[in-house]
Amino acid sequence: MRYAPIFLGLMLSMSPGGPRALAEDPRVLQRGARLIEPFDFRGVALQPGPLKTQVDEVRAFYLAVPDDDLLKGFRARAGHPALGKDLDGWYTSDTFHVFGQVVSGLARLHAATGDPACKEKANRLVEEWAKCIEPDGYFFASRKPNAPHYIYDKMLWGLLDAHAYCGNEQALRHLDRITDWAIRHLDRGRRVNDTSTEWYTLSENLYRAHFATGDLKYRDFAHVWEYRDYWDIYARNGDLFAPRPDGRRNEAYHAYSHVNTLGGAGAAYLATGDVHYLEVIRNAYETIQRDQCYATGGYGPDEMLLPAARILEKLGETHNSFETQCGSWAAFKLSKYLISFTGDAKYGDWVERLAINGLGASPPMTPDGRVFYYSDYCLHGGTKRNTDFGWSCCTGTRPQAFADYADQAYFHDADSIYVNLFTPSTITWNHAGDPIRLAQATTFPEGEETRLTVAVPRPQAFAIKVRTPGWLASPITARVNGEPVEVRPDERHWTTIRRTWNDGDVVSIRLPMRLSVSRPSSRRTPDAFTIGPVVLAFAAPNARPFARVDFDALENALVPMDGRPLRYRAAWDSSLVARPFASFGAGERYFVYLDPSMGSRIPHLDMQFRGRWNDAGAFRFSNEVGATAEGQFEGTGVRWLGKRFDDAGTAEVSIDGKFVAVVDQFGPGRDLPFDWSHRGLSPGRHAIRITVLERKADASLNRFVNVAGIEVLGGAGSTP
Ligand SMILES: [Zn+2]
Repeated sequence: MRYAPIFLGLMLSMSPGGPRALAEDPRVLQRGARLIEPFDFRGVALQPGPLKTQVDEVRAFYLAVPDDDLLKGFRARAGHPALGKDLDGWYTSDTFHVFGQVVSGLARLHAATGDPACKEKANRLVEEWAKCIEPDGYFFASRKPNAPHYIYDKMLWGLLDAHAYCGNEQALRHLDRITDWAIRHLDRGRRVNDTSTEWYTLSENLYRAHFATGDLKYRDFAHVWEYRDYWDIYARNGDLFAPRPDGRRNEAYHAYSHVNTLGGAGAAYLATGDVHYLEVIRNAYETIQRDQCYATGGYGPDEMLLPAARILEKLGETHNSFETQCGSWAAFKLSKYLISFTGDAKYGDWVERLAINGLGASPPMTPDGRVFYYSDYCLHGGTKRNTDFGWSCCTGTRPQAFADYADQAYFHDADSIYVNLFTPSTITWNHAGDPIRLAQATTFPEGEETRLTVAVPRPQAFAIKVRTPGWLASPITARVNGEPVEVRPDERHWTTIRRTWNDGDVVSIRLPMRLSVSRPSSRRTPDAFTIGPVVLAFAAPNARPFARVDFDALENALVPMDGRPLRYRAAWDSSLVARPFASFGAGERYFVYLDPSMGSRIPHLDMQFRGRWNDAGAFRFSNEVGATAEGQFEGTGVRWLGKRFDDAGTAEVSIDGKFVAVVDQFGPGRDLPFDWSHRGLSPGRHAIRITVLERKADASLNRFVNVAGIEVLGGAGSTP
């Protein structure tokens, strides 16, 4: 993003309904000040390490997708010869289409890595796609795009980034044509939380288009899509879930797009300098950290922002805990705006957590375009898995977000360089006419130290400022050329070493970490273990090993494994090992959060299903008469975990082969509480079987039966 103020000789054109401050000189594109600047990828290179390994994997994946496959739909719609094969999934059905983000990702990967193949591919894709734009500016892959606002926004990413990072001048011409179409055709209903369009994410890129071109058309159009109904709640530090002025209330907001939209407020601040927008994103950040984030930095279970208490309950209800690629990308953008506007390093902590436990904990994509969509923090055990279908939204944000590591690592101002990420990398910075090179070497987070080697053509005075993380166990200590130097963090959470630097000077920074228990609120549980920014998870096939955890002494529950950084044995069961969440591969069962009730719950993953059942993540459901779900337990009673729905039917429950009850899951609405339990069994092992029946309530729309799992009553470590 090239946000340096640009002055262009433009004709004054006033439009009614345009943004405030129109009386000021329209040639000034940016009025919002940045205290420190991102490098916008210039001069930075990741060096071999965990982040670079991931970026290289992502780059290789996207470079290998044939251009003809990516372009097939556009060419077919335009009546051109359409070679290549269908990419299937959401790509072929033109659902939240990611073509624009693939172009953006390649352009950014070029900026981040210097790989000319990424630039050439991005430019080829833009050129070929542009041949399919119709005379009126219509540009979608098909005649039935599902969310025109969303797809137009992603196309803006592609064109603006091809221009910014690949020198593609034609891209701005295409941008002009498709925007004229959008101005004429996009629906301006602008309903709150409208996930069928996600219209409220549009203003960010339209402001960027204004910065890139100087054309007031984009600024005025950006203003149309500002999401005041939602942004303003943050500006006044209000309650997202309180009744709105129209008397209606939002019980939930779509998570990713309601963080992504805050990028629009960030860009609006840059454009106008109006501190209202800065208040929006500052307060939004605090609210999201306090009420929405899990220990990993992930947020939005089942893709929802919810009241804080529900965020905890969701840990026991869903395996879809965090939309990882999209959610990380939105968080990265918001954090970067805040670091740069406020000069405060605290916002870098979120980037770090997600780079380690969110985006950075994703397994690779499958060659057919299936991506790691949801992180799973479920109390009843989780696994990492890629989606069942190809080319979801997260295949669009994945290359953008991974490329962003390089632009998150360092910032600068006139006489300081700021180290935000602790990762092997180099940065070359022009200061007082000289190129200054900093080489960072570290094994962080396995090791606590990072070393910065300075290369200067002649002695130079400047400051090196290191982010002071919120998770530190004790203050940062520093040495220059082996000699201790006194340092302390400033009010913006940077630890500064200012001196005249000589070529070859080495700064060693120690970032003390300690094992701690992360509690999402004042409630005692559920809890997760962290060391520094790293979230740990336990490898276990089921929750039984956790039945004997002493929750009053969790701080002493783990013992370090000799010589194995970030690895611990459980004090109560030495066969149980905790290691970084990021180290788990696809399909391995793990537990991130612990809760006293978990030992008594058997999730549907550990039950046996016969007949045709559908997997909704949190539960399975079937309307096939005779389909069965079976589970084994040890106790004197059992509770069936599920939900009531308006299309639910009845099931027969038997225990140890004997009929117990016919149970009806019908409820007048959807997702309503359901409670059925049976007690009074003899102590010992039992089996429960649930069989879908033909019969259903007259009012029910279908006969679906759902099973999330069972809870053992009156057993060891179970609910009495
Ligand atoms: Zn997504």
